[in-house]
Amino acid sequence: MKSSTESVLEYLILKVLANREEIVKALYDYFVEGASPSTIAMKYGLSKHQIRGYVQRIIEKTGSPMKSRVLMKYTAPLILKLKPIARKVNTSMAICGICKEELPVQVIEDHIKKKHSDILGECLDSVIDILKKTSTVKRHR
Ligand SMILES: [Zn+2]
Repeated sequence: MKSSTESVLEYLILKVLANREEIVKALYDYFVEGASPSTIAMKYGLSKHQIRGYVQRIIEKTGSPMKSRVLMKYTAPLILKLKPIARKVNTSMAICGICKEELPVQVIEDHIKKKHSDILGECLDSVIDILKKTSTVKRHR
């Protein structure tokens, strides 16, 4: 079974791969910068309702707002460096850069999870790897 950390990381990585990195940025602003949902909503063109939904999802996965804050602080900058697989064609359609399939934006995350789980796994491993190295460095200081 996956740990709660891995499950949150996978969730966030999937957003970036699906070309929805604004959601990861919005969550970072909320948890780390302490921005209000209305400020974030305006900045990223999301609704307050959507933001509360994403925030709730992260808290459910980590178990607490405090854990969510720590996790977002250290992992969001790494996750935001990943390259998206999908590319938006318009507001409702996106193209998968790997199999060139055109898909509705609502299913692109599922598509990546099912068809390109190897890439998702590689991204997850690389983020966890960097996290482990960073925490080792800190311990030695
Ligand atoms: Zn594909």
